[in-house]
Amino acid sequence: MKLATGCVANCFFALMLFNAAASALAQGTARSATPAVERTPDNNTNMETRNIGLAIHGGAGTIERSKMTPEKEREYRAGLERALAAGYEILKRGGSSLDATEAAVRVLEDDPHFNAGRGSVFTSAGTNEMDASIMDGKTLKAGAVGSVQHIKNPIALARLVMEKSPHVMLDCAGAEAFAKANGMELVDQKYFFTQERWDALQKMKAAEKARASGAGKSFIITDQDRHGTVGAVALDKDGNLAAATSTGGTTNKLPGRIGDTPVIGAGTYANNQTCAVSCTGDGEYFIRTAVAHEVSALMQYRGMKLQEAAQTALNAVKNLGGEGGLIAIDKNGEIALPFNTNGMYRGYVDTNGKFVVEIYK
Ligand code: ASP
Repeated sequence: MKLATGCVANCFFALMLFNAAASALAQGTARSATPAVERTPDNNTNMETRNIGLAIHGGAGTIERSKMTPEKEREYRAGLERALAAGYEILKRGGSSLDATEAAVRVLEDDPHFNAGRGSVFTSAGTNEMDASIMDGKTLKAGAVGSVQHIKNPIALARLVMEKSPHVMLDCAGAEAFAKANGMELVDQKYFFTQERWDALQKMKAAEKARASGAGKSFIITDQDRHGTVGAVALDKDGNLAAATSTGGTTNKLPGRIGDTPVIGAGTYANNQTCAVSCTGDGEYFIRTAVAHEVSALMQYRGMKLQEAAQTALNAVKNLGGEGGLIAIDKNGEIALPFNTNGMYRGYVDTNGKFVVEIYK
């Protein structure tokens, strides 16, 4: 937001307008993340206002509300808050949105509660195969990895692909060789074992078997059993947007399956002209509806505001039969967090710089 002012009275008036707008947004359904307002005098007669903003998600695959214990809820909330803190600290110090989104996603990748990095779900073969991507809204550069099995922080490798290779996407052994060649440590698959994700795989296999044999036994497969993802979107003080997304994919997926997360324009997109978007949900549907780019395109070509564009793009997923959600931030720091599942682990920084973390509707 630029405020061109010529005298003290005008500065005051402009500031009042800004404050009124910020509090109106805070009271409405639309959320604006404009906590740190920097006024940098361009010269003695001009004043410039810039915003910073951050939103994160820990996936639309939440635990059923009835199964959520206070202790578990505390753990999820603490994980989301740690991710917000990691990203926001960077933005407050004047760092880039790319660094902030990568830092926030790394925290969630290291947290076994979320389906990415350490807490990744299992394929039907009992392996962990992870996807991740990152995009810079300023340059439209992007990096992505698919089906990596030994990378502790796939988001860091996606960033490396963006910055150190001529490509956008690398997968499987090629991606891991590239990681190694660039000094990244590879970890054993054991690192990604969590009992909860293993049990979810066994449950899904048993359900599949019962279905195939026509046995009457029914299994309750929850969103948490099926999928999850982590992501972050940010706006930095220079007006640059970035988005980062990382996932273990869907439980019981076929080995080699790659979802929307590393597909630029489907699971992740950022463009300084419009917004930055990170998605979570049934990847096949998000790919077919090119959701992340759709949000940007609806803003750019149809003149929609962020909230409407985000909801419209997500409705297309629902209309095809898919479930999930997304987080998005626009160039003014406005934030949208729509989802059509029971819940979505999510958080953002509000207008006062306070961390807001939510799970259910
Ligand atoms: N979108 C992810 C995938 O399909 C999963 C999720 O976000 O729940 O791989």
